[in-house]
Amino acid sequence: MTNFNYMDFINQIIAFSPRQYKGEIKTANFIEDYLKKRNITFSIQKFKTKIPFEKKAILRADKKIIPCKSTCFVGGKIPNKNNLISSICEDSGNDNMIKYNINFNPYCNSISCASFYPYPAVAISAKDLKKIINAKEVKGIVEIEQKSYIARNILVGNKINPEIICFAHYDSILTGAWDNASGVSVMMANILQSPSTLKNVLYVFTANEEISYDKIPAYWCKGFRAFEKLYINQIKKAKKIIVIDGVGISPSSWMNKYENLKSTILFKQLDKFMPKIKRLGSSTSKVAKFLYHSELDTIKQIKEKYLVQTHKELNKEILKEL
Ligand SMILES: [Zn+2]
Repeated sequence: MTNFNYMDFINQIIAFSPRQYKGEIKTANFIEDYLKKRNITFSIQKFKTKIPFEKKAILRADKKIIPCKSTCFVGGKIPNKNNLISSICEDSGNDNMIKYNINFNPYCNSISCASFYPYPAVAISAKDLKKIINAKEVKGIVEIEQKSYIARNILVGNKINPEIICFAHYDSILTGAWDNASGVSVMMANILQSPSTLKNVLYVFTANEEISYDKIPAYWCKGFRAFEKLYINQIKKAKKIIVIDGVGISPSSWMNKYENLKSTILFKQLDKFMPKIKRLGSSTSKVAKFLYHSELDTIKQIKEKYLVQTHKELNKEILKEL
């Protein structure tokens, strides 16, 4: 069996972080080279996309700088602290009255870019929350540039009539060891160690999952919908669709609830294909919130034993169907 060093592979991927725009393209180049060196044939699905790119994000509380990151699609001013919201609360930014915000992830002691908003917004660390609350004057400014580029889904295996389609996205907000260099490593391990599955399985290293200006139905999972558009017949005919996202910090388990799938594989026709979609991910979603889309999502959080367990689960599930 081919030797595969998960941790080594993950470290190589996160060297390109944040894997957005140029970082994402470098990661695609790396995955392609990695496959070429191992004589694994693949094909590329190119698609056009556009992401918000932070030019500037400054927040001051009583003139003191508060570290922050932009979490928005448009730039502008944050004139006060009136809209201080949790970024992991569903629909927290959907109030039509809100025209700007300062957001935080209450579980995370770092800046967590958990949600992106259609108006000027910055994320701060929960540990700086008091500084905002206690300040008399809070003011911020954000500058966003729209960056267009050609993203690449990398396809390995049977793309004509696969019985199973398996996805793992390789882009990231910030470091993204758990989300989702870990999932990419598990999928790569299965390709290398179970090459016979390539006859019946299509493995997709998915681009541009995290964020795009594609708003309908949502800003995330653009790469999945690009695949859905071109490979709709393969999706219809496949017996099973697997998505690996966020593994390695605790044992992985299978999820098939709508909210688990909506956040990771938001096809246009998710409702229709839902009965055959399964997500493999860390079972402890609450534990995961402390690092979500933050610089705490590093290799230190990943345990090799959980990657091995995830790989076993994936392989078992694939072989069951073939
Ligand atoms: Zn993810």
